[in-house]
Amino acid sequence: MPESDIDYGSERRAMVEDQLERRGIQDSRVLDAMLTVPRHVFVAQHTQPAAYADSALPIGHGQTISQPYIVAFMTEAAQISPGDKVLEIGTGSGYGAAVASQIAGEVFTIERHSKLAQQARERFDELGYENLHVVEGDGSQGWPEEAPYDAIIVTAAAPELPQPLVEQLTDGGRLVVPVGTRHSQKLVRAERSGDQIQRTPLTAVRFVPLVGEHGWQRQ
Ligand code: SAH
Repeated sequence: MPESDIDYGSERRAMVEDQLERRGIQDSRVLDAMLTVPRHVFVAQHTQPAAYADSALPIGHGQTISQPYIVAFMTEAAQISPGDKVLEIGTGSGYGAAVASQIAGEVFTIERHSKLAQQARERFDELGYENLHVVEGDGSQGWPEEAPYDAIIVTAAAPELPQPLVEQLTDGGRLVVPVGTRHSQKLVRAERSGDQIQRTPLTAVRFVPLVGEHGWQRQ
């Protein structure tokens, strides 16, 4: 069988059971989404056999596809419901956005590297994911054109809560973002209620820097 025809179904089931359920991911929509999205399609052909391992993997341009558990954890923390409009900052491989798109109504995802943005677009087309839109640009400024969003997930590390993202949340909207230094961060959920923002620290994480106007000035 050519490698591209392997569907890795049993690896995907094992990933969901061993890495997600066993560690406390409970949202059945998130678990179903991670059972459905073929993670191996989002990595280079030669790393496909490692796609379901319990780790992040390089995707080129110094960037990584996040560890499956972290994708599940962030998606669960964003409390996405069917019909929600979601914004993701840091498309990378496109995997995280694809997972969110299985639950949400519409997902917009922004990537600053045009090659990665283009590659993600091609993958979404190939998989027939139609409620996903890739935007190229500086996601630290959000995407005002489609605001407000029920949930915003940032998959790159910010020095503080990026203010434009807070402003692009619906009332009741959730922003999930790694905040800290360039080398280590705390995942934070910020929930908007009227003009108030309630901040909840979640877990320690390590992401590549969010490079932009409301992130770090350089990679
Ligand atoms: N969600 C991705 C993981 C992304 S890694 C996945 O599932 O594969 C972080 C990504 O954020 C990188 O691709 C990086 O280029 C991108 N990035 C960093 N700063 C950004 C910015 N200001 N706007 C958009 N993308 C950014």
